[in-house]
Amino acid sequence: MNILDELSTFEASYYQEVEDLLFTFGILCAWFGLYQLIQQQITKNQILNIAANTDPLTGLLNRRSFNQNVENSTDNNPSAYLILDIDHFKQINDTYGHAAGDYVLTKLAKHISKSLRKQDRVARWGGEEFLIELKHCDSHTAQLKAEQLRALIERSDFHYSGQYLSITVSIGIATVANQHLNRDEIINLADKALYQAKNGGRNRVVLASDLKQNE
Ligand code: GH3
Ligand code: MG
Ligand code: MG
Repeated sequence: MNILDELSTFEASYYQEVEDLLFTFGILCAWFGLYQLIQQQITKNQILNIAANTDPLTGLLNRRSFNQNVENSTDNNPSAYLILDIDHFKQINDTYGHAAGDYVLTKLAKHISKSLRKQDRVARWGGEEFLIELKHCDSHTAQLKAEQLRALIERSDFHYSGQYLSITVSIGIATVANQHLNRDEIINLADKALYQAKNGGRNRVVLASDLKQNE
């Protein structure tokens, strides 16, 4: 074999090795790129999921996600539902501006969240309305808790741009125990109790079983 033949054999195997290396490197890069792409997509989906289930102002569950994670509670583990509505909230907006109203909603949401146990849930139910679910809670305990929350909000400091804002809430309560009603019907009862709390002068708690007839 002459020297030229040896050289060309060496070159051919050398090029083959380089080619194999580059191929392996290319495959690794493609896998890495794909992995990154999938991770980005997962993070994106998680962010979208959180955004779809959360009220952007208060960070609480929104009505949709609250309804999605419902257990049918017409068993012997009574849950209580509280609808809490800020009194004369429109006046806050009209007097101090919409941003002041947003501040009140945010601060109130924090007060409510802090006062709940791990197993309870709260959602922003509407504009200035919150729905609270107290798990395994009879009507007497629910009434006590609602009254504590009402009093806490009444004495809390709401300061906005150097102004003191006086905030009170009305709360309607309905409990699952002994009622052959579905959850929507129970919430409807709590809403009726809230309506009576408003009519009774606001800044108060009304339990649905205490509702006057025909209300
Ligand atoms: P009541 O004591 O009977 O509940 O009276 P209210 O003024 O609280 O109730 P009303 O339904 O008349 O007004 C609710 C107001 O809540 C009107 C609406 O502009 C305001 N609102 C709803 N959502 C938001 C929000 O996200 N931010 C602010 N700042 N205001 C909101
Ligand atoms: Mg209101
Ligand atoms: Mg309202």
